[in-house]
Parts: sequence; structure tokens; C-alpha cells
Amino acid sequence: MSRTDPSDAPLLAATQLHKRFGANEVLRGIDLTLHRGEVVVLIGPSGSGKTTVLRSLNGLETPDAGTIAVDGGPEIDFAGRVSSQQRFALRDRSAMVFQHHNLFPHFTVLENVIEGPWRVQGRPKGEAIDAARLLLDRVGLADKENARPHQLSGGQQQRVGIVRALALRPDLLLFDEPTSALDPELVGEVLLVIKELADEGWSMVVVTHELSFAREAADRVLFMDGGVVVEQGPPAQLFGAPQHERTQKFLTRILRPLDGT
Ligand code: ADP
Ligand code: MG
Repeated sequence: MSRTDPSDAPLLAATQLHKRFGANEVLRGIDLTLHRGEVVVLIGPSGSGKTTVLRSLNGLETPDAGTIAVDGGPEIDFAGRVSSQQRFALRDRSAMVFQHHNLFPHFTVLENVIEGPWRVQGRPKGEAIDAARLLLDRVGLADKENARPHQLSGGQQQRVGIVRALALRPDLLLFDEPTSALDPELVGEVLLVIKELADEGWSMVVVTHELSFAREAADRVLFMDGGVVVEQGPPAQLFGAPQHERTQKFLTRILRPLDGT
């Protein structure tokens, strides 16, 4: 069930994104639209271009062609000249959570969280600290603000990574395989936080192969292969009745006994 009003301008509309690295054509015409409050899960084999899509949406990667428009605003046309101002505008909209948390090892948890809002965005330090404490409390890490990353479990580190993204107050959260580097017993606590954010109405694109998460949280699942979106649909449709052979083969490979069928 979609929690969005389709008459609203999309939060994000990407059309025909193309990207090549040398001879390797990694994105071959990706269309992706996201409305406010929508949760899109991106699945696909390794090397299919999922990370490159997220990095393009975040302004970390510049596609060779295609357009991205935010909130019905003017579109950035990557076939033409893209100013750094346009790239920064895109970057400001979203915050990314990576497979590896990328926390600063010599900073405390609190220092890691306030770095973006305080030093990069220039918000008052006290305000950044208050906001960081609220967010840490929400993910059950209120008592860890003075810990260094190495003193935390992988799941706790990843929850700090999520808080650090939230502290930037983005419109859009991008998750790139946020649990794939975790020991299996730590995956659940991180997925639970992401699920709660989804339930609260955050707009997000999540690359993950955790199909039970996708079933519960996603409004739409996109299956990518070879730099194109092969098919997309609500999770029940995509997992229950995939239309394309490539999707069927991929799902068969990643479905684990726990997921039933
Ligand atoms: P996925 O996240 O689906 O595994 P990626 O988007 O990371 O796929 O990568 C798609 C392809 O692009 C891979 O073949 C990868 O090696 C290549 N690639 C990604 N980033 C770069 C880069 N900066 N330079 C060269 N090749 C890259
Ligand atoms: Mg990737």
C-alpha cells in the first residue's frame, strides 16, 4: 500500500541515467521516481550498478547523460554542463548510509554525529548536540555518546551511521547494503531501525538483499541487472510473481530457506 499522494510532484525523478567507466557501461538508462514517504528497495546482482545509482542520486557520481529533478524543480541535465552548485544542491537533499559505517575512529560517537550538522552545515554546536542526543536515544545508544567506534559492536556502529545520516536532516535517505557487512545476529537490530524510519514516513532508497525487510517495508522493489531496471513492482508482486526470467533466476539464488517457498 502506498502512503503517498501520487498527485504531488515527486521528491526525486531520475530519467535515463547513463554512466560508463571506460569501456564498462554501468548504467544504461535508469529511470527512478520516488514520492515523499515512499520506500524503494533496489535489488540485483553484484556489479549491476546499484551503488552507482545511489551515488548518482546523491551527487557523488556524475552520470554521463540523463536528468534528475528534485521536488518538481528544474532538472539537472547531465548531458550538458553541470555546475558544482547543482551537484551540491543534489547532495544536500540526501544522506547516505554505507555498507561500512565510515565513522571517524578517533572521534567519540557524539563527535561523529555532530560533525556534519555543526562543522559542515554550520548549525550551532549546542543545537547539534541536543539533536544528536535525541537521535542516539531513539536508536538505543544514549549511553554510548562518549564511546569510540571500536568500543561498539558492528550493529551499534551501523546504528550510529544511521543517526549520523539523520542528523543532516535530509529529505531522502539512501542505504547501500547497510547490513551486508554485519554478523548475522546483528542484522535484525539495524533493519529494525530502518523499518521504524520507513514507518515514520521517511523517503528512502534501500539497496539490500534482506527480502523479509523488503516485503515488510518496501512500497516498491526494483530489480536491476546489467545497468537497467529489469522490472519493478510492489514486493508481493515482484517476489511472488516475477515476470522476467532474469528476476526469477536472481530470486532463486538469493532466497534462503527462512524466506519460505
Ligand atoms: P553494484 O552496487 O550493483 O554491485 P556498482 O554500481 O558498484 O554495482 O558497480 C557497477 C560496475 O561499475 C562494476 O563493474 C564496478 O566495477 C564498476 N565501477 C563502479 N565504480 C567504479 C569506478 N569508480 N571506476 C571504475 N569502475 C567502477
Ligand atoms: Mg554496491
